[in-house]
Amino acid sequence: MGLTVPSWSPRRGLPFLRIYWQRVLSLLYPPRCVACRRVGAVLCTSCMRAFPPIRPPVCPRCGHPLPKVAPCQTCRRGILRALDRVRSAARFQPPLREAIYALKYRGARALGPVLGAYMAARLRPQALTVDLIVPVPLHAERHQRRGYNQATLLAQPVAEVLQAPLATEALVRIRPTAPQITLPFSERQTNVAGAFCCPDPSYVRDRRILLVDDVMTSGSTLEACAAALKEAGARSVWGYTLARALPDGG
Ligand SMILES: [Zn+2]
Ligand SMILES: [Zn+2]
Repeated sequence: MGLTVPSWSPRRGLPFLRIYWQRVLSLLYPPRCVACRRVGAVLCTSCMRAFPPIRPPVCPRCGHPLPKVAPCQTCRRGILRALDRVRSAARFQPPLREAIYALKYRGARALGPVLGAYMAARLRPQALTVDLIVPVPLHAERHQRRGYNQATLLAQPVAEVLQAPLATEALVRIRPTAPQITLPFSERQTNVAGAFCCPDPSYVRDRRILLVDDVMTSGSTLEACAAALKEAGARSVWGYTLARALPDGG
């Protein structure tokens, strides 16, 4: 008689119960900032404002901060071959460093969209023409263990702001590699050389690609990805990372 009582069904009921349970949990255990431990959000606004951005002047090719716009020493030695250009949003320093460790090693998946939005906000979309966004893949075993690829989470807001499709299967890591951060610079290139391939080159042929990753250290991982993409026929490969670890730590 004009009043309908919605009938309970597992399909309707379970998401409702999950949301209800999440609210109960967030009252019992409110989120804390991964960097400063303040209660309220998984990453507080004052920590986000403290991220040390990388601003020009930088090396035109690899984006290394310099006193003036000029090719850096590494680029003068021709270290980057397949990778056409790289930029990073900020320096790999606290509190960004803590946030990246939490995202990668402590299962703080909720940080992915927050940090990805930070990357997207620091891009100038008008300065970029991109056909495809490709996150740096994890090896299948590590992906399964972690439950997500942090580079894909970061790449989603970047793809939205650039209005370009996100291709998570264009590139795969065909062999497991030691985390670059655990190795000296001299071993990083051999660690990742030949670790990536494009299973279906038609995805990337003649495309202008933007590779997305969390941290750039020596650039070897991005370079190995770019080599696989170029071999499959990509027209250009640019890299964009959330953070850049600089040799002087600065
Ligand atoms: Zn904080
Ligand atoms: Zn350079």
